[in-house]
Amino acid sequence: MPSYTPPLRDMQFVLHELLGAVDQLKAIPRYADVDAETMDAVLEEAGKFAAGVITPINLSGDAEGCTLDKTHHTVTAPKGFKEAYQQYVEGGWPALSCDPQYGGQGQPMVMNTCVFEMLNSANQAWTMYTGLAHGAYAALHAHGSDMQKKLYLPKLVSGEWTGTMCLTEPHCGTDLGLLRTKAEPQPDGTYKITGSKIFISAGEHDFAPNIVHLVLARLPDAPKGSKGISLFVVPKFKLKADGSPGERNPIVCTGIEHKMGIHGNATCQLSLDGAEGTLVGEPNKGLMAMFVMMNGARLGVGNQSLGLTEVAYQNALAYAKDRLQMRSLSGPKAKDKPADPIIVHPDVRKMLLTAKAYAEGGRALATWCALLLDQAEHHPDQKTRQDADDMVALLTPIVKAFLTDNGFTATNTCMQVYGGHGYIHETGAEQFVRDARINMIYEGTNTVQALDLLGRKVLLNQGATLKKLGAQIEALIRAEGVNESMAEFINPLAGLADKFTKFTTEIGFKGMTNPDEVGAAATDFLRVAGHLVFGYLFARMASVALKQIAAGNADPFYAAKLQTARFYFARLFPETATLMITARAGVANLLDTEAALA
Ligand SMILES: Cc1cc2nc3c(=O)[nH]c(=O)nc-3n(C[C@H](O)[C@H](O)[C@H](O)COP(=O)(O)OP(=O)(O)OC[C@H]3O[C@@H](n4cnc5c(N)ncnc54)[C@H](O)[C@@H]3O)c2cc1C
Repeated sequence: MPSYTPPLRDMQFVLHELLGAVDQLKAIPRYADVDAETMDAVLEEAGKFAAGVITPINLSGDAEGCTLDKTHHTVTAPKGFKEAYQQYVEGGWPALSCDPQYGGQGQPMVMNTCVFEMLNSANQAWTMYTGLAHGAYAALHAHGSDMQKKLYLPKLVSGEWTGTMCLTEPHCGTDLGLLRTKAEPQPDGTYKITGSKIFISAGEHDFAPNIVHLVLARLPDAPKGSKGISLFVVPKFKLKADGSPGERNPIVCTGIEHKMGIHGNATCQLSLDGAEGTLVGEPNKGLMAMFVMMNGARLGVGNQSLGLTEVAYQNALAYAKDRLQMRSLSGPKAKDKPADPIIVHPDVRKMLLTAKAYAEGGRALATWCALLLDQAEHHPDQKTRQDADDMVALLTPIVKAFLTDNGFTATNTCMQVYGGHGYIHETGAEQFVRDARINMIYEGTNTVQALDLLGRKVLLNQGATLKKLGAQIEALIRAEGVNESMAEFINPLAGLADKFTKFTTEIGFKGMTNPDEVGAAATDFLRVAGHLVFGYLFARMASVALKQIAAGNADPFYAAKLQTARFYFARLFPETATLMITARAGVANLLDTEAALA
């Protein structure tokens, strides 16, 4: 069975030494009392919970999966999931970063993000039940009426009830404008909602006495397409006058999917047969309201892959130190043993370091993004809020797609480290690969993220936010460019930063004459942008490490950080050269292919 050690030291490095999170948070009145010791203590406790309670039910949950009772439309999660959820609720974890007005603890999102990374490492399938509840909380907090907030938020904050997001229908996934679920207004101000939803994560389970479904549907007079979608809150059990669960609402699970990974999470087909719901926000503005949940979920999905990358790396590293096969090419290293541990072989190290670099770069990016979210929501200065919000918008598709593509690569290379044993269930290595695969698909496929980044976040705002990111990178290059020991990090970063504007402008111009050019370049563009951000963060991390070493700090953590940064710039970052060639290859070789794809 795989094991998990929470990466607390690296989290502290990112929070305190790289980002100076405490000082940044203290500038926000709501977080004036935040201090490093408390943050570290909370993360340590969360780490204990993740490693001690959630990790042990990961492999067994994968093997057992969820069970549907078709007669009663009930779903039972794997053994131990319900009890672990109870402990999670009793520990107050669902409330960590929620609004104190509704029973929350009012801690920053950046802490919640670190906690969720650990839960995802421990057990992605289990963690999804809690992540969706938090997403429903965020959407209702932003767009719910006072009554909806009063009825639902305290229950979601305490974790007593969980939540879902019900978007997908059999004929519509990416293109939500096609959705057909109908909402009929009733004289009492409620709506009767009828339709079929599929692939609804955590759509039914045995953890909680109620489930708060957020459902997209169409009003009778709604305009066609995505401009005619409204958002409704539809509880599994209708609420009595005192807010407690009452009569069963006709929103029932008619099937659960048998799928490649995340077996412990119930992926449900939900049938709504006149289910009672109330409108959230304005009519026909449901997609915008749902975007609160979707954007949070996109960052959350990036975090899922970060968690899997870390845990896959940890286990592959331990295996590589233990497994004896062949001798090092340059002569035996473990002379007292019949063979050397496989970690002596350069290619095994390459696989391990790929995962380590993707985990550490991913952690720096996800944590930075969460800190920006705290600023965007609560900073007293309007311009700081706006700048942070713009940056989160730019980084969100990168976190979602770059981290999940990297996560699949990383879990896959970690499985390879195990050789044939990685293909066997009990090592857990193959489960990480299977679990990681969905992250590239749901919450808007990675193609959709790439189109969002290049089309909407870069070209549509004439590169304004990209320029702000560019200015931060330029500032680092100017400050560190004079430092010889930083040259191996700054030179490649400066090289890419220099080319990136021209590269973006060129694709933008091509896109103006033929929009398909944007579609043809977007995926490669996103990967280049991902490396630009990782390069920036790795250079900053290397700078912190070099300063500590120069000051005589002998903590091997800093030497390790430098070696990982060196590996990253030498072996992973250079793929940007190829990606810029393929992104420029144009659309003709894709669309003038009628014969090839006949
Ligand atoms: C395990 C699991 C859990 C899920 N959980 C939820 C959930 O909780 N709630 C929910 O509502 N949904 C959920 N989903 C649904 C998920 O979000 C969708 O599967 C996903 O958005 C893709 O939609 P689709 O499957 O219909 O694929 P399609 O939209 O049919 O896309 C098929 C392919 O075409 C590509 N494509 C589509 N349009 C374009 C375009 N314009 N340009 C380029 N390529 C394009 C896509 O990228 C994809 O590769 C879940 C799915 C799974 C498998």
